[in-house]
Amino acid sequence: MSAPAMPDLFDAVVIGAGIAGLSVTAALADSGLEVLCLEARDRVGGRMLSSDDGSLDLGATWLWPGEHRARQLAGRLAIGILKQRIDGDALYEDAAAVHRLRGNPIGAPAYRYANGAQSLATALAATLPAGMIRLRAPASTISRDGRSLRVGAAGVEARATHVVLAVPPSLAGDERPLRAGAARSPDPVGAGHAGMDGRGQQGRRAVRECVLA
Ligand SMILES: Cc1cc2nc3c(=O)[nH]c(=O)nc-3n(C[C@H](O)[C@H](O)[C@H](O)COP(=O)(O)OP(=O)(O)OC[C@H]3O[C@@H](n4cnc5c(N)ncnc54)[C@H](O)[C@@H]3O)c2cc1C
Repeated sequence: MSAPAMPDLFDAVVIGAGIAGLSVTAALADSGLEVLCLEARDRVGGRMLSSDDGSLDLGATWLWPGEHRARQLAGRLAIGILKQRIDGDALYEDAAAVHRLRGNPIGAPAYRYANGAQSLATALAATLPAGMIRLRAPASTISRDGRSLRVGAAGVEARATHVVLAVPPSLAGDERPLRAGAARSPDPVGAGHAGMDGRGQQGRRAVRECVLA
């Protein structure tokens, strides 16, 4: 089946399909807006990466008491939450030896996603209409195009009235790979960054919206 035709002008192009980009894409799509999400890799989830069987988390692993939006999102997507076992001693290994610390040095109850943290991202992506996420599409340019913005990515050229950068802060702050010809508002879509609310400050900095001045 061929991909649906791209609209001439999107309301928003979201760059990055980590949990922030997916959350923003879903929120905007739920509002009835035309959205396109571009992801550089061949998978969604970004730093939420789990082994294929979901038993090992290779990036984000735990959620903590008070992270209500992450829990709500998991609940909405029917993702199970497990209590992290914290009784017993903690072990860690350095170059010299394996060390044993008495008790749990973190001292707070933690929780894990039953099928790995990446399942949150893949389940959220599965709620989006076909074609809304483009994988293997690293965005490389954002330029002005009259009263809209033009985003260039591998194999994709899209026009939009808004662009959301949902990439890590180190990339969002680097003007070289993504040249935005538009003003950046400070945190216009922070509420859309619902995925990892306990780490919201870091994520929020990663989310910038390019708007026409
Ligand atoms: C080892 C590790 C352990 C962690 N443990 C925890 C934890 O236990 N609990 C917790 O809450 N958090 C944890 N974190 C942090 C958590 O993973 C991140 O805060 C969260 O996943 C960030 O999500 P994000 O969507 O903002 O960014 P990312 O997940 O980094 O997503 C950004 C996406 O943008 C894509 N991208 C980048 N450049 C482009 C481009 N030019 N064009 C298109 N796409 C692009 C990337 O491929 C990526 O998919 C951990 C992180 C790591 C690395």
